[in-house]
Amino acid sequence: MIIEWNDIDTVLLDMDGTLLDRHFDDHFWLEHVPKRWSERHHKTIEYSKEHLYALFRSQENTLNWTDLDYWSDRLKLDIPVLKREIEHLIAVHPYVIDFLLFLNQQSKSVWLVTNAHSKTLDLKMRTTRIGGYFEGIVSAHQVGLPKEDFKFWKKLQDFIVYDPARTLLGEDSEANLKTARHFDIAYLIYISRYSSRINPTNSENFTTIDYFNRLIPEKGNSCVTIF
Ligand SMILES: [Mg+2]
Repeated sequence: MIIEWNDIDTVLLDMDGTLLDRHFDDHFWLEHVPKRWSERHHKTIEYSKEHLYALFRSQENTLNWTDLDYWSDRLKLDIPVLKREIEHLIAVHPYVIDFLLFLNQQSKSVWLVTNAHSKTLDLKMRTTRIGGYFEGIVSAHQVGLPKEDFKFWKKLQDFIVYDPARTLLGEDSEANLKTARHFDIAYLIYISRYSSRINPTNSENFTTIDYFNRLIPEKGNSCVTIF
């Protein structure tokens, strides 16, 4: 794919896994929550994981999935407090700040578009301080649909004025890239190194990068080629 930055006005970026290390979220839901739940309910960690993983799966691709109030209520745990217990794991991926600076220098309209709940967003913006690089932040909870829903990207236009033909979207979710392709967003980029703990593999369906420095052209150039 050739990315000609003169042809792009709007850049939409996902948060967890794309800009921030998903190790925090994976560790939180797969290890930390089962640990605290097992203590509270006097169950073994093995039982707790099995029970909770099934519960989590039952809410995949819905807004409940990222709704901290829903999980606090369902699990009888204070989920925002538990998140703060491991907030030291919240980290910005390498080269993200360089990329955001580049976009700001180029006067692109840059938006954070996330399925994350407002309480997760608050914690992550406070910890990482990346909020200032964006024209704005839109949560799927405001839109009323998760990004996995085909109607999401059209409805997003109620919040962001954007021309899909002149828009780039960065995501670590192929499901979300697929719904965006359905809405004809022109530049769809899959982020393969969503967690610092995984070995990245390329998408078979989308142009793939590991780090955002791949999208920054050399000085004096306006385009990059991704192989
Ligand atoms: Mg993500």
